[in-house]
Amino acid sequence: MEVRLIDGRTVNVKQVYNGKACRCTCGCSGKHMYDEKSIARYVKKILKTGDIEIGSTYFAHENQTRLYVAYFE
Ligand SMILES: [Zn+2]
Repeated sequence: MEVRLIDGRTVNVKQVYNGKACRCTCGCSGKHMYDEKSIARYVKKILKTGDIEIGSTYFAHENQTRLYVAYFE
């Protein structure tokens, strides 16, 4: 899924993650998803918060209980 980030980059999200806040993101504390429907759902969820951390291969939102991450290449 193509997403335009606030820093101007257009990235292609290939994977999303939904897990517990402040925990390991390997999958032991949450779930990685690769299907289009989940990717669209979590990208929308993250962007909607307006409180986004952007890294070189991901963007993410963390609140007090959950961590949502979208991974791109
Ligand atoms: Zn882990």
